[in-house]
Formats: sequence, structure tokens, C-alpha cells
Amino acid sequence: MSDASMPGDMRPDAAPAWHAMAAEDVLRDLSSGHDGLGGAEAERRIGRFGPNRLPPAGARHPLGRLLAQFHNTLIYVLIGAAAITAAIGHLTDSMVILAVVTVNALVGFVQEGRAESALEAIRAMLSPHASVLREGKRRTVDAAELVPGDIVLLESGDRVPADLRLIHVKGLQVDEAVLTGESLPVAKQSATVAAGAEIADRLDMAYSGTLVTRGTASGVVVGTGTRTEVGRIGKLIEAVAPMVTPLIARMDRFGRMLTVLILATGAAVFLFGVLARDYSAGEMFLATVGLVVAAVPEGLPAILTIAMALGVEQMARRNAIVRRLPAVEALGSVTVICSDKTGTLTRNEMVVEEVATADTRFGITGTGYAPHGAVVLDGEPVDSSGEPVLVELARAACLCSEARLRCDHDTWHVEGDPMEGALLALAAKAGIEPERDCPALPRLDVIPFDSESRLMATLHRGPTGGVIYVKGAPESLIALCDRQSVADAGAVRDERIDLALWHRRLEDMTAAGERVIAVATRAVHQDIARIEPADLEEGLTLIGLVGLTDPPRPEAMAAVADCRAAGIRIKMITGDHPETARSIAASFGLSTEDVMTGRDFEILDPAELADRAARIDVFARTSPEHKLRLVEALQHRGEIVAMTGDGVNDAPALKRADIGIAMGIKGSEAAKEAAQIVLADDNFASIARAVEEGRTVYENIRKSIAFILPTNGGEAMIVIGAILAGLALPITPIQILWINMVTTVTLALALAFEPAEPDIMRRPPRSPREPIIGIYLIWRTLYVSAQMTVLVFTLFLHVQAASGLDHARSVAVNVIVACEAAYVLNSRSILGSVLSRRALLASRAVLIAIAAVVVLQLALTYLPPLQMLFAVQALTWSDWSLVAAAGAGLFLVVEVEKIATRAILERRSPPSLGKAPARADDPRR
Ligand code: ADP
Ligand code: MG
Repeated sequence: MSDASMPGDMRPDAAPAWHAMAAEDVLRDLSSGHDGLGGAEAERRIGRFGPNRLPPAGARHPLGRLLAQFHNTLIYVLIGAAAITAAIGHLTDSMVILAVVTVNALVGFVQEGRAESALEAIRAMLSPHASVLREGKRRTVDAAELVPGDIVLLESGDRVPADLRLIHVKGLQVDEAVLTGESLPVAKQSATVAAGAEIADRLDMAYSGTLVTRGTASGVVVGTGTRTEVGRIGKLIEAVAPMVTPLIARMDRFGRMLTVLILATGAAVFLFGVLARDYSAGEMFLATVGLVVAAVPEGLPAILTIAMALGVEQMARRNAIVRRLPAVEALGSVTVICSDKTGTLTRNEMVVEEVATADTRFGITGTGYAPHGAVVLDGEPVDSSGEPVLVELARAACLCSEARLRCDHDTWHVEGDPMEGALLALAAKAGIEPERDCPALPRLDVIPFDSESRLMATLHRGPTGGVIYVKGAPESLIALCDRQSVADAGAVRDERIDLALWHRRLEDMTAAGERVIAVATRAVHQDIARIEPADLEEGLTLIGLVGLTDPPRPEAMAAVADCRAAGIRIKMITGDHPETARSIAASFGLSTEDVMTGRDFEILDPAELADRAARIDVFARTSPEHKLRLVEALQHRGEIVAMTGDGVNDAPALKRADIGIAMGIKGSEAAKEAAQIVLADDNFASIARAVEEGRTVYENIRKSIAFILPTNGGEAMIVIGAILAGLALPITPIQILWINMVTTVTLALALAFEPAEPDIMRRPPRSPREPIIGIYLIWRTLYVSAQMTVLVFTLFLHVQAASGLDHARSVAVNVIVACEAAYVLNSRSILGSVLSRRALLASRAVLIAIAAVVVLQLALTYLPPLQMLFAVQALTWSDWSLVAAAGAGLFLVVEVEKIATRAILERRSPPSLGKAPARADDPRR
């Protein structure tokens, strides 16, 4: 958009340089205030400024997409053949070839359009959100709804949703690489900078599209949509993901190689026919064109795209949103999944079970986040007002928190961190009401929870002085405390800390699988208005420990078992205490003999680290950087690693992993952008389903190839066989073109839609180095081609002797198609038997395809215009029985071949084909 067309006061030349104005002046200029806009005003402004969105990255024009369907070596060969056929006067043949090309392109076009709109819809599911203040209340809105004047709250991991003039800044660092190319994060401030400052030097601004790597801030929106810096430079953050994966690229190369091979064979056959046999050049040319067209697997590119797109769609339906297509393939070869514990393996529904003070251990009753329940001591409810330390702890828990409890329809929910929600419920049970008791101690400052220090602290102004409340992991916090709170005549007194006592308490609580939080406090001088991490380093008094439970997700337990049966190792990663981690891991059946901690990552040498990382399943007290080391150590040992993450610090590990998986609900924008897959429900079970889907996609592509190569090969071999033997062609060139057209858009496509085979999650992961077309598929191609050729020639010669050439060819056309229809059923499992109800109850796509082929063949055989065009005669009942017998014969012959192959493979690798190799940790051993 040009500057001149910008409305009124948002025009850069008319508008002041926001960075050179004081925050207060910016707020006044935009008629906003520290409480943000009102809902109605925001509504009005969105009508005026439009949504905060950039125009979508150049979506391709449909015509361009259609033309792109023809841009493929396989298709060029066909078009060339059509042109030459037309030039030598065989218009009908030329038209049929063009029909094949066109139908194929249309199918590809339609399916690719479907795939693109599926990806589009998926991208919409990932639309960013922003935290704003509206009428003084914090709320989450769609980033597109932001308007100038809105107050936006930033925290680490956020993508800045609009151009902001910063108001309050706390340790904010922003990665502005998208805008300035500078890859180091920039520390921001709220103080005004010089009017002439370059974008990179406007430290009081946060620009749309940049990434918060650390700290928090609030700022007022000064520009949205195209009126942001990033909009102005026309840079598009999210480009359309290309539909190319390593597999598709490999198949492209394979297609080109095959084309060359086919053309060379065609040329050789042509020369042989003209020179060594008595075919005329014209006749031989048509036969060669038929041969080439028959052999070229022109449907292959479309099938790959369709299979991928179906996989992506299916995964999205099952809560795994694919951001980058190669992930679909990589999922099929995953050997290790490293999963966060909290919220992914567990429900992230926390309940406080007990509270330990220096004097006592209280039990807590109640369910969920409802603030109803009792404090019990030795099974008897106690009046918490007589327990001053408990009350002090409850107050700390509710003040040192960002969460809020909300009740709708009689159920209580948390807004914010579930653990903090559980602490709020505890506070209520102990008689502390945030509304009543908290305004008395207004919050002055906060140090947000950080997974490195594992602490969070808040500063409050009390009636007699300042007070700091801190909560965090016990090992981190107890070490900082030198006093402890004890009850003394209805009040709280502090005394020297008894470390042995607390360590005993901690041990008891963690052994029970509880997640433990320590709570501490410190009085500070009245004048102190800001806190820094250094303020927590001395003078803290430990109030008590809180033990919470977070039950495992039952469906995640089942999914872990499924993955292990599929030969995939599961590793659990958590910031929690090792004993807590061990207890949860045990309920998932993971090996808990040994637990590795973040400290081990720091002290072990690389070789030892790799060794232990490979062996151990449970990783506790880890920081995000340890995830990166873990991924590297595992990859070093040849594993294909999937890693989950949510925070901004997880991004490097997510990028490094073969498959980075971000949490859709609690994940930061930074983690989502680094990931290849985003889980819409944060649930481990969705990962397992995505793996299953990834394996299915790959299998279906293999099945399609295992169908296409032998059938194309069979058609080609029949032509070549006749020419070599100097026989009449069992099918005319134009009949080959017909067969090719009919089967490509029906039978070959159908296999891309196959559902997962029942044992797909009982096989070991596929090696990423395994070629998609291996020795076995080559053998299968030769075997099936040969069987088809023999069948067709036998029947053709038999009918020819009795009823003449034209009739025999009519039978042969139907025999070939019947063989292919039968072989589609074989191909539903590459090696598994389909001699069961599975074959009869084929999947819908296969049945539809076969039905379509039957209708088309009846039309060819009985409709006069088609009969004329393709020189086909009506068949008799006995002809049809030959056709049916041929199909059944090929079907059986292939099944017998599979049985033999399975027997050979079984003998070679005793632990039975298709089963995961037994492992030392295998629960079935
Ligand atoms: P996880 O990997 O299980 O999510 P985290 O890194 O979130 O672990 O937390 C590690 C530890 O930090 C917890 O065991 C708890 O003791 C402490 N902790 C977690 N969240 C908070 C919070 N909001 N405030 C204070 N301490 C916390
Ligand atoms: Mg956590």
C-alpha cells in the first residue's frame, strides 16, 4: 500500500514518529489509556482500520496450477507422442493420448486444489492470538482483531502481533531478524529515543512479526496490518508451504530415469520391429507410441500428492497439525519420541494433595479446581484460621500467581497455569479469598516463572512494608532460604531453617509422585518498588511445601504402549523432581531403573552422555537446553527423533529434531514456528496417531507404486513380446491407450485412500535410508508383468484360433483390465495376505474404482461408438468367463507369490516378519 492511501492520522508523514514520543503522549494521541480501549471503541476502530492482517502470500492462480500439472517429464513424453501421431495422420490415437493427459491433469488439479485448501484450513487453525487489555481486563483475542490504541501484553515466546510503542518493559529482549536481519536479540526499553533513529535503534518500539525471546512488556498498538513496518516492506512471514518432500523429489528423479529407460526401450523395439521383423514403419511407430504410453506411469506424481494431502488432512482431524510436509514422511521412520511429561503425558489438571509446614503435614480434600474442600490433619478436618503458617502459605500462593479460577456451569476452570490454579483452590480451602485479601497487598512487581531458575517471585506493598513472595522448585528455593516459618501463639514467627527436616519432607512427597512447590517470603523496605533475581538470594524464609498430583492421561498410556509395540522408544522429559518423574514414568511402563537429571547433562563427557541418553527413559530437572543436547546425542546414534516442546527456549531443540512437535494450547508462538507439527490438544496420544498416519501414507504410496509398475510393465511386456515373437499385437495401440486412460484415473488412485493396515503399529520403524523401490518391488514388477503377459497371450491365441483377430483383441483388452482390477486387490497389502474378508470387503475407494472400471469396460464392449473407435466387438458369456478366470488366476498367483516371499523372509529373520524386534526393555519379553 502506498503511503498516500493511508487513512488520516495513521499516515507516516502526518503521524508523529512514535518512537520519539513519550509513551503517555502516544496513548493520548491514539485516544487510549493504561486500561486499553473499550470493546465498543475497538469495534469501531476495526471498522476504520480493517483487520490486523497481511494479504495472504501469493496463492497461485488456478490456471497456473492447472498448467503446472503438465509440467512433468512423463507428461512431456506423452504430449510429444500425441503431436507426432497427429502429424503422421492418426488423429484418433492422438486424441486418445491427449485425453489421457487431460484427464490425468484434471484429476491432479482437483486433488491438489483439495490439498491446498486443506493446508489453508490448517494454517487458519494456527492463527496467532494476542493478550490485550480492554477496559482494564486482560483478555486473549485473535491477533487480527487488534486496532491502534490497544494495549498489548507481551511475554517470552510471543510473536509481536502489531507495531507497538512500549510502555512498561521488564527484561524484554526481541529477535528482530525478520525486520533488520540482526540475529542477536535486542534489549528493549520504554524511554524515548531520538527522532532520527533507524528501526534497529528504536529500542522503545516492538515491531510486528518480531519474536520475544525473554522478558515481558506492555505496549500500545500504533500500527496494524499493512501499516506495520513488516507490512510496509511487503515481507511475508508465512509463505505457502511447497508440496515437495524428499520422497516426492526422489520419485521425480525416478520418474525421469524411468522415462529415459522407456524411450530407449521404445527406440530399440521400433528398430527391431522395422529391421528384423516385417512391420511397416508406420505400424511400428504406432505400436511404439502405445508401448511408451503404456509404460509411462503418468499418474504417479498426482498419487504422491494425494496420498500426502490425505495424510495431512487425516492428521489434522486427529489433532496433529502438520506445518511442514516432510514431517508426514519422517513420522513413518521415527525411532524415539521424547515427550514432555506435564500436560502431554499427564492431564495438566493439578490438585493439591498436601501441604507441609515446619510443624505439620496437612492433607487437602476436594476435587478439581473447585475452591471447596477441607484441610485435614490425621483424617480430621481442622479450622485453618487456627493455623497461621498455613494461612500465610495460602496467601503467598494466591498472591504469587498469574492464574485465575472461573466457574461456569458449576465446573471450575483455570485461566492460566493449572498448577497456579490448584494453588488458588488451596488458598480458598484455607480461607483466603483473592478478592478480599489480595487488594490489601497490591502487587508492585513480578519476576515471571522461568524454567532455568524454576522460580517465580512477586513484590507487594503491605501495611507495614514491602513483602516478596517466591514459589518454585524445592531444590532451587530451599537452598536460598536460611529461616523457616513456625506457628507461635496464633502468629507466625521465623527461626533457623532445619534443612534435614525439609529434605525428608521433600523425599516423602516426591516418592508419592507428587509435584512439589516450595513457597517462601521475605520482608523488604517500604521504598523498594522493583525486584531483581538478586533480591532472592538472601534472607528468604521458607513457609512450606505444597504437593500436587497430576494424573496421567489414560489415552496417553495406551498410546505409549502402542508406540513401544511399534518399535518406538519413548523418553519422558520434565522439569520436575526425579522422584516425581520416576513415579509417573512407572505408570507408563517406562524403564525407571535410572533417571538422568539436567545436572548429568552438564557434567558428563559427550560419549558417556550419548550412551546414557540412549539407555535411559526418564529425564528430570532438565532445562530446555538439555533437550537440544538429548536430541543431538540420540541423532548421533542414528536415531530418528521426535521432540515435543512449548516454550521459546525449546525452539532450538524442536528445530534440530527430525520432527519438532509443539503444543497448540500451551505452546508459545516461537515453539509453534520452530515445529513441524503442532498438537491441537497437547496430548501424547495425538503423536502416536500421527505416527500411525505417517506410516500409512508411506505404505499407501508404496502400494500405489507396487500397483502401477507391474501393470504398466505388463502392458509394455505384452507389446514387446508380440513384436519380438513376430506375432499380431494382442491389443492395438489405441486399445492400449484406452486401458491406460481407464486404469490410471481409477485403480491406481484408489490405493492412496487405503486405511491403515491393522498391524501397522506392530512393525518396526522404517529406515529412512530404505529405498522406496527396493529389490522386492523390482522382482514383483517382473513377476506380475510376466504372469499377465503369459495369461493374455494364452487366451488371445486361444480365442484368435476360434473367432479371429478382432474378437481375440476384444477379449484381450478385457482380460488385461480384469487382471489389473484383480491386482488392485492384491496390492492392498504388499506382503500380507488379502485372501480373507479384507479382500472381499475392500475399502470404499477400491470398490468404487473397480465398479467404475467395470462400467467403462461394458461401455467399451457394447456401445457402438466406442466399439467403432477402438475396434472392439461384443463378447459372449464364454468370453466373459475367460476374462473372469484370468482376473481370478492372476489374483491367486500373486497371493501364492506373497506366501512364498513371507516364508523366505521368515526363515531369514526368525523374529517373524512385521513384528517389532524384541528389545531388552520390551514389556512382552
Ligand atoms: P515440566 O517439564 O514438568 O512442565 P517445569 O519446567 O514447568 O516442569 O517445572 C519444573 C518445576 O518448576 C516444577 O516441578 C515446579 O517445582 C516449578 N514450577 C513450575 N511451574 C511453576 C510456577 N508457575 N511457579 C513456580 N514454580 C513453578
Ligand atoms: Mg511446565
